[in-house]
Amino acid sequence: MKSNESVWRRAQKVLPGGVNSPVRAFRAVGGDPLIVERGHGTRIQDSEGNEYLDFVGSWGPLILGHAHAEVVQAIQEAAAGGTTFGAPCEAEVELAEHVVSAYSGIEQIRCVSSGTEAVMSAIRLARGATGRDGIVKFAGCYHGHSDALLVEAGSGLATFGVPSSAGIPKATTAPTRVLELDDSNALRALLEREGDKIAAVIIEPMPANNGLLLQRQEFLQELRTATEAVGALLIFDEVISGFRIARGGASERYGVVPDIVTFGKVIGGGLPVGAFGAPARLMAHLAPEGPVYQAGTLSGNPLAMASGLKTLQILDRENAWEKLESLGCYLDERLGKGLSSLEEPAQLVREGSVFWMALQGGPTPRRASALVPTASARYTRLFHGLLKRRINIAPSCFEVGFLSLAHSRSDIDLLADAVLEVLSE
Ligand code: PMP
Repeated sequence: MKSNESVWRRAQKVLPGGVNSPVRAFRAVGGDPLIVERGHGTRIQDSEGNEYLDFVGSWGPLILGHAHAEVVQAIQEAAAGGTTFGAPCEAEVELAEHVVSAYSGIEQIRCVSSGTEAVMSAIRLARGATGRDGIVKFAGCYHGHSDALLVEAGSGLATFGVPSSAGIPKATTAPTRVLELDDSNALRALLEREGDKIAAVIIEPMPANNGLLLQRQEFLQELRTATEAVGALLIFDEVISGFRIARGGASERYGVVPDIVTFGKVIGGGLPVGAFGAPARLMAHLAPEGPVYQAGTLSGNPLAMASGLKTLQILDRENAWEKLESLGCYLDERLGKGLSSLEEPAQLVREGSVFWMALQGGPTPRRASALVPTASARYTRLFHGLLKRRINIAPSCFEVGFLSLAHSRSDIDLLADAVLEVLSE
């Protein structure tokens, strides 16, 4: 039988760090990553045949669980008819119609192959449509790894964009401004000072890449009003929240209609898909209608469209968001209450089927700067304690967990009991 160790040894020879995406390497928690061979429902299996209860869900796409039979069938049927055409196909029209029906502010979408690509293209569209270069983002919000947005947050009211990766020219991030989340004063001051140079303000309306920093509805509303006042566009990055926390995502949940929405994860049902959408007058700036160039060999790929569309249809049919909320409430009851009764500070933060175990006390953090650095060592203990008990959570204290329609209350019992046991040890 293959061993995890032998595959991992081979991986490190031919893949940098052994992985195709850095967080998979377990650097934040130490140890060797699981080599995952199969997934079904809520369980994944490593290459030695060990089974784990999974709350990572491939970082968000698997809202129906692993290898949902109808999604697999839709992909198989699509594949049998040809895997890519580089020409328009009906599946991409159907997916677009579905997204348009769910978001009141969206009349058209364009499909791409990842969340990164969706956001990168949305930024280009915003710049092309406004004729401005400036971008405002928020500390702790991740928008994929395109150059202009890979910018480290500084403290204070606003920092000038400093690239947080090697290989990004300073000039590329110079027009990017970084603000703290939930800070209306800083937002107002920045837009007063240089609002006429800002093409777009981009935010994860449900920031889920630096813990889960849930925002006040009023703050999101202020973003809407403030951007409108200076002629800047508002971009909601709903790569995680889109079709996950409501049919109409965070836009519906918080009742704020942005100018552009970016998607990924759930709308691909586990295949590589991203998309961005906006009113038709804005989308008309894109090629071939307008001067903003954007393209892709595999964009609107028939397999990815079939997988995404089937997933979205099942969500509707199953009344998914109500079921997920009810599962989430059960998580509050079992895990949330348990965490707050521990001796050492801990709390559960949750929005719908997205949850985060914040290993800190005090008020629920709304800004990256409110995160307690000591959480990391405790999380490492928790992570390995759970892995020993065959439960898989994200290998970093800054990453959230995901519930799927496949999870049951007994899965949540298993998680809650294990977490409380490890943290009480
Ligand atoms: N935006 C957000 C909010 C994300 O969470 C992510 C990925 N986690 C991205 C963009 C980038 O998506 P991808 O990894 O598909 O490029």
